[in-house]
Amino acid sequence: MDKGWSDNNKEIQKLLTKEVTFEEAIQKLVAFREEMFDQITQIVNGYPEKAFAEMPFAGEDGYHGKTLAYSIWHIFRIEDIVTHEMIARDDQIIFSQSFQSRIGSPIITTGNELQGNGIVEFSKQLNIKELYLYAKAVKESTDQTLRNLTYKELKQKFGDDIKEKLIRCECVSEDGNAFWLIDYWCGKNIKGLVQMPLCRHWIMHIEAMRRIKNKLCKIARKGVDPVAYCGFSCNHCFLAEWCGSCRTEHNTCSFATCSEGRICPNVKCCKEKTLDGCYECDELEACEKGFYVPSNDGANAAKAQALYIRKHGKKDFLRALDRLHEKYDFQKTQEILGQDYKEGLQILEEC
Ligand code: SF4
Ligand code: SF4
Repeated sequence: MDKGWSDNNKEIQKLLTKEVTFEEAIQKLVAFREEMFDQITQIVNGYPEKAFAEMPFAGEDGYHGKTLAYSIWHIFRIEDIVTHEMIARDDQIIFSQSFQSRIGSPIITTGNELQGNGIVEFSKQLNIKELYLYAKAVKESTDQTLRNLTYKELKQKFGDDIKEKLIRCECVSEDGNAFWLIDYWCGKNIKGLVQMPLCRHWIMHIEAMRRIKNKLCKIARKGVDPVAYCGFSCNHCFLAEWCGSCRTEHNTCSFATCSEGRICPNVKCCKEKTLDGCYECDELEACEKGFYVPSNDGANAAKAQALYIRKHGKKDFLRALDRLHEKYDFQKTQEILGQDYKEGLQILEEC
């Protein structure tokens, strides 16, 4: 488990045990859920729709042996059921905001009954934007439920009435892989539900989503030119695990994802000019487009690298970056190549 997330989880569990620290526990839990949800937001904003139905660890047991779409569906269906049928005792978000039809899901269950290719086929049917909106609505509604909770309510248990209600709403499949969930939830008190479906369950699945998307990026980059359009090297980028390269559909370069239409202006411009990269462009030195905008602190380092490629070629450039990394300890090339592209080029040539 992610060390930081594991420590957060432990601290929250401890704070939940005493009335004097209960409010702090809830505040920290809501903030922690926000931090974890941000990972989902980045994945949804960064990855192409088809990535959400891919299963790079097919056949492997565990949370990572699923798809990104299934993981989101599963986390938030469970949370919606537990929060609204058991804790708040009001309407589930999936029904009150017509999310089943909006998402295009053929099921309203948690998905535990689905296996292997069934998960892939299910994932292909989901509208990812609506799925994300559902996840967000469930999260926000649960956050409010958490804020309304009192310390005394944590000890509240669930009787047969809730168990029957859960069976009647048909949100848990009768399949043996799923039906146990009802007894599992009803065997806990509210504190137990807060600890597991509303916190630890997120950690396990979101960490698995990170593994899935990292693997998808690795697969996408296989055999692809590691030199990016702007002159960066994917082989040396500190975000290499996160991004699938701007030469693939799995481009999650942070600059691309915050650009209009999630298309990096340098990529767009090179494609329009049918150039392999900015290093082939006559306007490179004076260009202020996209990543080269003067306000971007990496602009000159990227330009220095593009100029190096123009002068010495890609192979030599990749070797020069190897040497630069052997010589210095850094994450971003601008830390070494500085804020002047001519100086940066000189540093690269001298290393
Ligand atoms: S800034 Fe643009 S060209 Fe450079 S790596 Fe990112 S997406 Fe590719
Ligand atoms: S004009 Fe700028 S962004 Fe476009 S190809 Fe040339 S250097 Fe790259």
